[in-house]
Amino acid sequence: TRLANQIAAGEVVERPASVVKEVLENSVDAGATRIEVDVEAGGTKLIRVRDDGMGIAADDLPLALARHATSKITSLEDLESVGSLGFRGEALASIGSVSRLTLTSNDQSQSSEGNSALCEGRDMEVQVKPAPHPRGTTVEVRDLFFNTPARRKFLRTEKTEFNHLEEVVKRLALSRFDVGFSLRHNGRSIHNLKPALTQAECQHRVASVCGPAFMEQAIHIDHDRPPLRLWGWVGLPTFSRSQADLQYFFVNGRVIRDKLVAHAVKQAYRDVLYHGRHPAFVLYLELDPAQVDVNVHPTKHEVRFRDGRSVHNFIFSSLHRALADVRPGQDSL
Ligand code: ADP
Ligand code: MG
Repeated sequence: TRLANQIAAGEVVERPASVVKEVLENSVDAGATRIEVDVEAGGTKLIRVRDDGMGIAADDLPLALARHATSKITSLEDLESVGSLGFRGEALASIGSVSRLTLTSNDQSQSSEGNSALCEGRDMEVQVKPAPHPRGTTVEVRDLFFNTPARRKFLRTEKTEFNHLEEVVKRLALSRFDVGFSLRHNGRSIHNLKPALTQAECQHRVASVCGPAFMEQAIHIDHDRPPLRLWGWVGLPTFSRSQADLQYFFVNGRVIRDKLVAHAVKQAYRDVLYHGRHPAFVLYLELDPAQVDVNVHPTKHEVRFRDGRSVHNFIFSSLHRALADVRPGQDSL
């Protein structure tokens, strides 16, 4: 099964960023309100994620590291209406097969003070021993790909790997304002985001994640036309980022990259004489979950809308209106 896990790992674990994505999603699924991410050497040496979620019972620790052992799906109907982020039950097993993984947790049952399970790239012979931990879970992933040199060769520089990893944290921070996030790299604090509840706090978070320059010129939109709602912040047509993309689009809280969405956004910008290269935006589309299929691809960045045309029209018209309102030189300004 070690081989099976490593094959599965190929699909799930491409680089440190993929580890962080899976582990963070688990923390969110566990109802964490604060998540601390500590990494060393771009995540290749160490990734430590600590949360204050519901924790894992001692007996369940080996199970959490076993393949296809998800606690999140109990029926086929669940699969259809899956609300949690992870549901394949193989992320931890896959990560454990290509790293030295320690899972320490406390679910505060039986007045337990915490337990720890270690798994070192071998068969799932997991030993559980007591280890002090407050309520919640810490996942420690050391020496990623230590036993798969071919994969290790594909890793880029520490800086590049860290950038990918940071992007994962940013996306999640923009999709879950209610959760606090911190990110440290080589002992240095990169992000420290308190849970944001009020509109001002959310705005503050977007500014910390996307940079104050974006927020200074961005316009806030909120177009609610049931059953569709589009809200967020759009950069003015004159604000463009040439180096890094600042384009975040969330559908029902999940970040997506979708052709239909990209097209609608681009059209709206083009229509108001957009002349920059990369429009910048942080947008949230909300619609009936039954109207969108998010399980098109395992990495879940693609979606399929039941009624693509009306979604396209809605995004286009919402943005078009907002952008046209502020077009420089327009009477309406
Ligand atoms: P999946 O998330 O698809 O269920 P994973 O391999 O990512 O599979 O995790 C396996 C199981 O371990 C989860 O179903 C969950 O029960 C448990 N688990 C993992 N991380 C955490 C966490 N941070 N807090 C609580 N439970 C967790
Ligand atoms: Mg998971």
